[in-house]
Amino acid sequence: MKLQELYDLAVRTGIENDPRGEGEIKTILAEAKRKYEKLDEDDKATFDTETLASPYADTRILAGDPQMEVTGILVGVDMEVGEILLADKLRERGSKINVVMAHHPEGQALAALDKVMAMQADVWNSFGVPINIGEALMSPRMSEVRRNLMPVNHARAVDAARLLDFGFLCVHTPADNLATKFVQDYLDAERPRTLRDVMKALKKIPEYKQAALEGAGPNIIVGDGDKRAGKIAVDMTGGTEGPEGAIEKLADAGVGTLVGMHYGEKLRKKADEKHVNIVVAGHIASDAVGINQMLDRIAATDGGVEITTCSGLRRVERG
Ligand SMILES: [Zn+2]
Repeated sequence: MKLQELYDLAVRTGIENDPRGEGEIKTILAEAKRKYEKLDEDDKATFDTETLASPYADTRILAGDPQMEVTGILVGVDMEVGEILLADKLRERGSKINVVMAHHPEGQALAALDKVMAMQADVWNSFGVPINIGEALMSPRMSEVRRNLMPVNHARAVDAARLLDFGFLCVHTPADNLATKFVQDYLDAERPRTLRDVMKALKKIPEYKQAALEGAGPNIIVGDGDKRAGKIAVDMTGGTEGPEGAIEKLADAGVGTLVGMHYGEKLRKKADEKHVNIVVAGHIASDAVGINQMLDRIAATDGGVEITTCSGLRRVERG
C-alpha cells in the first residue's frame, strides 16, 4: 500500500461513515469547487486544493512522498516530536516502520481544525435541532477555535518527520466518525435504561474496559447512576467541543443524555442547568475505538503492513 492509498482509504472510510451522508458531502465538495473557480489567481495560489476532494481539513498527508510504499506504521493518538524519535529508535532496532500516523491533527491539519466543526450542526439536526439554529450556533464557536489555533506552532512534528525521512499523516475526523457510529449503534441496540446501564454497556467495549482499568474509563459528570438515560446522543465527532448553546437546543429536541469524549466546565454547567445528563466515555479510549476500526480496514486492504501502536492506543482487532 502506498502512502497516498492509505490516505485515500482513510478519507473514503470517513465519508462512508459520515453523519451527514454521502449525498450531502458531494454537495459540499461541489460547492467548494464552485467557490475555488471564482477565486482570483492570488488567492488560488495559497488555496488548499485538497479541500476540493476531501471534506476533512483535519486529515492530511503531512510529510513524505505520497507514492512511497508503506512497510510499517507507528500509530497513536498524539504523535509529536517524541513519538517521531520513538519511531526512529524502533526503526534502528529493525522494525519496518516508515510511516507515522497521528490521530490528533498536526501541521496544516491542526491549523484548519475549525473547518470540520460545521458538521456538528448536521449531527444535532439528526437529533431534531433545526439546521438554521445549529449553523447559527456553530459559526461563532468555529471562529473562536480558529483564533485559539493561530498562535500554535503546528509544524514541529511535521518537521521532525521530514528530517528523519518518515512519511507522516494524520487521520482525525474519519476515525472519529467511525467511533461515533459504532458507539451510537451499539447503545441504540443495548437500550440502556439508566446512566448506570450506560456505563455498564460502555465498559463491555474493550477500549473502555481497558481505560477503566487504567483510571480513565467512562464517568457520569451530569446526572447520577439511578437516573434514566432517555434519548441518547453520541457526540464524538466534528473536530472539538461545540458551543454551550447547543446543549439547550438538544434538550429542547428531546435528548436526555449526551455520551461524548470531553466536556469543558461551561458545557458541563449548561447541561446541569438544562438537566441533560452527560456521560464522558473517555477521550483517549473513544479515539482508540475509531482508530482501531480504521486500522482494521488498513490491515484488511494490505496485511503486509506492520502496525505498531503507542501514545495511548492499544490495538483491538474487530472481525
Ligand atoms: Zn481526540
